[in-house]
Amino acid sequence: MIKENLSVVRQTIPAEVRLIAVSKTKPVSDIEEAYNAGQRVFGENKALEMRDKYAVLPKDIEWHFIGHLQTNKIKYIAPFVSLIHSIDSLNVLQAVDKEAAKNGRIIDCLLQFHIAKEETKFGLALNEAEDILTSDEYKSLTHIRICGVMGMATNTDDEALVRNEFRELRNIFNTLKDKHFAGSTFFKEISMGMSEDYPIAVKEGATMVRVGSKIFGKRIYAEVND
Ligand SMILES: *Cc1c(COP(=O)(O)O)cnc(C)c1O
Repeated sequence: MIKENLSVVRQTIPAEVRLIAVSKTKPVSDIEEAYNAGQRVFGENKALEMRDKYAVLPKDIEWHFIGHLQTNKIKYIAPFVSLIHSIDSLNVLQAVDKEAAKNGRIIDCLLQFHIAKEETKFGLALNEAEDILTSDEYKSLTHIRICGVMGMATNTDDEALVRNEFRELRNIFNTLKDKHFAGSTFFKEISMGMSEDYPIAVKEGATMVRVGSKIFGKRIYAEVND
């Protein structure tokens, strides 16, 4: 089914939008099935799970970290992670920079914004992001690169609300681009949209969508944020 699901999802996403197949909690065999169907970009939300999957899977996979990142676990993913979608503090960014330096890498990151009505979702407000970007601490970092923004909309059937939240994220992107990344070619990503709302996200300007259950089926295990 994974192959068929992938094909359906791909057909509804324009070619220039990247599809991140969110494989969290799913076994390696499921990822292999998606890989054999041509998928090369996968998203995980736990550092150790991602490290263990990286170890046994083909090395041309791009691994994207999409979960809340604990500073003491960055070391497990720093050697290979392609993009961290979920930077929500200067502290985490500094810790990523440190681990990236140890590995002789520059790690691409997105700033995660809180756009949903739910209290539980992580993320920055615009003013908090600007405080980070104008700080001396941020300016001294040499092994990270901020490539754009990420956000999760409210989990609701209210399409107008979801659309407004995605618009808000795009406005945040535009503001940051103008004020802090003008002339930068790498600040270009808007990561938004999941299984239930990615078509809206694409219409509102997503450059990346993160789709899990629509590809791999419902997740069975309870999710914890680590
Ligand atoms: C789990 C998760 C997804 C994918 O969710 P689905 O609804 O299964 O598509 C996308 N983004 C983040 C941050 C996630 O944690």
